Amino acid sequence: MPSVSARTTPVLAFPRAMRVEAPSPASGREQDRILLSPPHLTGGELAALSATLDSGWVAPAGPVPEEFAEAIGTVTGFPHVAAVASGTAALHLGYRVLGVAAGDEVWTASLTYVATVAPAVQMGAIPRFLDVTPESWTLDPNLLERELARAARRRALPRAVVPVDLFGQSCALDAITALCDRWGVPVLCDSAESLGATQRGRHAGLGARLAAFSFNGNKIVTAGGGGALASEDKALIDAARHLATQAKEPAPHYQHETTGFSYGLSSILAAVGLAQLAALPARVAARRAIFERYLAGLAGLPGLGFMPEPVWGRSTRWLTAITLDPAAGAPDRETARRALAAAGIEARPVWKPLHLQPVFRTAPRAGGAVAARLFETGLCLPSGSGMSLAQQERVIAALRGLWQG
Ligand SMILES: *Cc1c(COP(=O)(O)O)cnc(C)c1O
Repeated sequence: MPSVSARTTPVLAFPRAMRVEAPSPASGREQDRILLSPPHLTGGELAALSATLDSGWVAPAGPVPEEFAEAIGTVTGFPHVAAVASGTAALHLGYRVLGVAAGDEVWTASLTYVATVAPAVQMGAIPRFLDVTPESWTLDPNLLERELARAARRRALPRAVVPVDLFGQSCALDAITALCDRWGVPVLCDSAESLGATQRGRHAGLGARLAAFSFNGNKIVTAGGGGALASEDKALIDAARHLATQAKEPAPHYQHETTGFSYGLSSILAAVGLAQLAALPARVAARRAIFERYLAGLAGLPGLGFMPEPVWGRSTRWLTAITLDPAAGAPDRETARRALAAAGIEARPVWKPLHLQPVFRTAPRAGGAVAARLFETGLCLPSGSGMSLAQQERVIAALRGLWQG
């Protein structure tokens, strides 16, 4: 049962920090810094927060997280959604409800953020890293097909396959789920970076047994932290909700048949998330427009390429990612990144593939050369939907300058 906090009246005075712009540190130089993907507030967050505080519902349960979960369902097409404390928490719950246990293998794309597999590793599972394709930068279905067949022969199928929707781009989910269905392996899609993206006309993640979303501050819309686990299977989401609230059995005392987590999403954050979610179509349009401006502004530079958008999907272009090939006349990725940093522009290398991370040096893998090459050459450019035209022109000019020197 949700617990209701004491009513707070009047509403707290909000500090000036609650502004429409991204938070900008004080010093002049810092103020001009162009960040990779800062939060972009709509102006509606404060009203949503005030209303929530006014209502007295501030706990990580109750009508506001419920409303947020429903809104995520409406946006994504998933009939069942649990709003939780983070994308990582959503993935952890996903692994739990799929029954992942110590010694099980979970397979994922090597080119991802550590959060994709960290919860499974903490559960004692063994991650296996599969390469991505140059056409999509996401999990290679042909490689997956071969690896599944080999694992079936060894009677060592994975407990879950976890493809990743990268930088706003859906993986080849239909192909991946078809392959996994053949072997009865469930798919947990890490869609943390791809809210608002589509795959064959459906929302990213839809079609997987489970999908995880994130509302962290750097994502396309944010709740100031938060996540969601979604499924078409009500039982899985009911189980996730149970685990997210300490696995309390119905009893007047505290009764437990398993241990869970404190993974509920605060009503306060859910209120911010609701205000943000309403702006999602505008944010997708803005990020795609930013990509188009980079495409035009950086056209013709030798050795510079862009992350492709495969035919099956429509990316949000959450981050515009470029590749720099020194053999074809581009500066190398670190030279470019450092030059941008010196000009007050934050750019980041593409994810360092997990099979190259020291923590996973002994983990099994299949391929990895494509992901390694993308890490070597790939750079994510400032892509925040609140970035001004003038700021983007600064980024483009700073990059173009590297070919003139
Ligand atoms: C952001 C992200 C997560 C984790 O989300 P949090 O809300 O930060 O816990 C998981 N996977 C990927 C690929 C991400 O980019």
